[in-house]
Amino acid sequence: MSIEILGQPKGEIEVKRFYLPEVQINVICPECGYEYLWENYLSYPDVNTPIGLYLACRECDHNWSEQIILKLSVELV
Ligand SMILES: [Zn+2]
Repeated sequence: MSIEILGQPKGEIEVKRFYLPEVQINVICPECGYEYLWENYLSYPDVNTPIGLYLACRECDHNWSEQIILKLSVELV
């Protein structure tokens, strides 16, 4: 092997709108049970660190947050 990758990416991706194609998050409102798909973008997301995902129910306007992790790694293939 002629190269070796050390460490894990950390820090912020400096992109205002980091879209996640093919990713859908199924959201169920904890208040009214309304179900919808979250398809959006993350602003300046940190990688490999929990990120707050702020949600608002489209039916009853309840607001809450969950945490997600955007995992990024570099590997030899
Ligand atoms: Zn709701």
